[in-house]
Parts: sequence; C-alpha cells; structure tokens
Amino acid sequence: MKNLQKNDPQIAELIQKELNRQRTGAEMIASENFVSSSVLEATGSILTNKYAEGYPNKRYYGGNEFIDQIETLAIERVKKLFGAEHANVQAHAGSQANAAAYFAVCDLHDTILGFSLAHGGHLTHGHPVNFSGKSYNFVSYGVDKNTEMIDFDEVQKQAETHKPKIILAGASAYPRLIDFQKFKDIADSVGAYLMVDMAHIAGLVATGLHPDPVPVADIVTSTTHKTLRGPRSGFILSKINDRLRPDDKKNLAQKIDSAVFPGLQGGPLEHVIAAKAVAFQEALSPEFKAYQQQILTNAKVLENKFLAAGIRLVSGGTDNHLLLLDVGTLGLSGQIFETLLDQVYIFTNKNMIPYDTRKPMDPSGIRLGTAALTTRGLKEADMEIIAEVIIDTLKTKEAKKENKEKVLALMQNFPLYPEL
Ligand SMILES: *Cc1c(COP(=O)(O)O)cnc(C)c1O
Repeated sequence: MKNLQKNDPQIAELIQKELNRQRTGAEMIASENFVSSSVLEATGSILTNKYAEGYPNKRYYGGNEFIDQIETLAIERVKKLFGAEHANVQAHAGSQANAAAYFAVCDLHDTILGFSLAHGGHLTHGHPVNFSGKSYNFVSYGVDKNTEMIDFDEVQKQAETHKPKIILAGASAYPRLIDFQKFKDIADSVGAYLMVDMAHIAGLVATGLHPDPVPVADIVTSTTHKTLRGPRSGFILSKINDRLRPDDKKNLAQKIDSAVFPGLQGGPLEHVIAAKAVAFQEALSPEFKAYQQQILTNAKVLENKFLAAGIRLVSGGTDNHLLLLDVGTLGLSGQIFETLLDQVYIFTNKNMIPYDTRKPMDPSGIRLGTAALTTRGLKEADMEIIAEVIIDTLKTKEAKKENKEKVLALMQNFPLYPEL
C-alpha cells in the first residue's frame, strides 16, 4: 500500500485501522470470513481495468483473450466443485444472484414461496422494502413453534394454497440442516421450480458436510464470501434444461445467463471473478474439507458450553456453522448484548428469533458463527475460552476488562495477514 499511503493517506490510514481491528478481535459474525492472501491479491489486481460485457468468447469489447480464460476457469472450477451442469459467475453478490434467478423464470408479481424473514430468511427473500418484495408476490413458510425447525406441513400447505412459480429454500439464520429433497417433492407436487439459496452453507455443501441442493434444485444461488471463503461476490448454478417449460426458445441455463447480462448487470467484475476462481480451486483441496470439519467441531464446542450454562439455543443447538442464542430469556436484548460483546472484542450481530416478541432493531437473539475464527486457526480449547467469555458477559451483563484482555491475548496467537 506504499502508493496509497503517499497519495491518499486518509484512506490508507483507515484501511490500516480496519486491518488492526480484524487482527485484534474475535470475528463471530456468521456471514463473515477471511480470504487467503491469494484471493486478496487477485481481488486487488489490474483486472479491475477491463470491460468484458457478455460471456467468454461472446464479448461486446475487444481485448478479452485473457479475461475469457480467467472467467472460463472460474466457471469450470465451480461446476467441478458442486457437480453442476451450468454456472454463471458474474453475479456481483448474493442479492444480484437472487435477483437474476427470479428474473430468469418469473414474470413481475409472480408468486414465490420462501422462508419467513422473521424466522431466518434473507432480505432478498421478499422483504417489503427490498426489490424482491416490491417486484414479486412473496408468501412464506416458517419453523414449527416447538421444534423451531422448518415446518414441512406448512410448506406443503402454503404451496398448495398459493401455487407459487418458485419454492425457495435457504436461510441466513437457520442453525439446522435443510432437507432439500423434501422441498423438491413439494415443488414437484405443485409444479413449481425449486430454487435453493445456499449463501451461508456453500462451504459445507462443497465438502459434503451438508445435504447437497445441486442434484435436486433447478437453480442454486450463493454468495462466495461466507463459509466458502472467497471474495465478496455471488454465483448461480442451474440445470441446463427448463424442466417446467421445455418448449421455450431458451433453456434454463440461457435464461439465467441473459437475466444476469444484459438483464440486470453491465460489465462483470473480472478481478473478483479471478478471485472467485482462486477460491474455488482452494475449496477443491483436502485442506478445505478439514477446515469445514473444524468449523462444525468448533460450533459444537460452543453448543455444549452454552447448553451446560443453561443458555437457550434456538432449535436446541446447531448442525452447521451458526448458533442463535435467545438472550431475551436472560433479561437482555440482542442489541445490548451485541454492544457488550463488541466491548470485549467479540464481534457478533443481534438477530430476530422465531416468534420473537421484540422488535427487529432490538430483537431477542444473537447470531454467532464459527467460520471466521476457524480460518484464524482456533481449535476446541480456544473456542472454550471464547464460550466462557460470552457466558460470563451474558450472566454478569458486564463488559469486563479481564474478558477483553483474555480475547485479545487469545487472538494474538493467530496472526492475520502477517505479510501486510
Ligand atoms: C448473505 C445472503 C445473501 C446476500 O448476499 P449479499 O452478497 O450481501 O448480497 C443472500 N441470501 C442469503 C441466504 C444470505 O445469507
């Protein structure tokens, strides 16, 4: 960053401060992670200079000889990683991937059945202020009040009542495995497309540690920057054939591609596409599978410690990389607890819990994820220290100096980007 320091010291200094924050604290926001230095280098590369509207070997600009090879590698690698028939790697982020998926197979105001936002669904799954809720008629299913797991009887009932064009599975705050075959059976029973948004769990899916949506879903969207540990971006996998409309001029793969470009985006971010190619290659390695296994092991350590301390976990525990703590039952709000944890350098986010009686800006829950800490290198014994700090902060409702020092000392054992 020598040039930046010289030419724009203001921004350079803020980047340095953010690097120090990332290095010193314990990052437990379930949607965050730390990319490899290789991914970082590709993201910061000269590829940002190139316009490449179109697709490999079908561009609207000249000079794309090497860009075509890069994007083709990204496509081939992600297809191999997930065993997909077709891949589009141009979506700028998860939201754009979802927008393109809806745009590819729906007309405006068509009905889509998705997971309730109040129960852990995503903004782009029909929130009224989001393009999704404004452009499509979203209806929802939720979790069973007792088990706090997806209520498939309700999915079936809602599907029969609303006859949606798409049934959408996938979530931002659901700590359990999702049975995609059950969704497929319901989609088949009402003639709907099955779309899966695997943004949070893509790394687990890639390594066989979560049921695989790719064989059963018509369309699978994802981010690349959560458990998959790539740059901030998205992608779309799909079948080639349009199962429900086989006589259309375009097949499903072509519909997805034209929804992304020229439907929704202009020039793709080829520097980020190169970084995605690097991340997909990393995800194909045996080390990546061991990493994903450690994410699950670390989440189980937290689960055991919290349950032993009498903390209520939504659905009673976790099968994946995240946990939802109900802190309302302990007389705290999610907002207050998030702030207390910030003060001891554990970064988390407040979150609604199913059937929450509090408001979205001050809900009853805290969401914790283990993907980023596992990248830093934390193992079982380290996670126990983290759990103890969280439990003590929760029980005393205090951000103790000694807890902050414990976190800072622990994180010093796990250097982040030492070369920077
Ligand atoms: C994070 C997330 C997204 C959106 O990702 P952005 O890259 O922030 O646009 C979409 N769907 C789900 C389920 C997510 O968790």
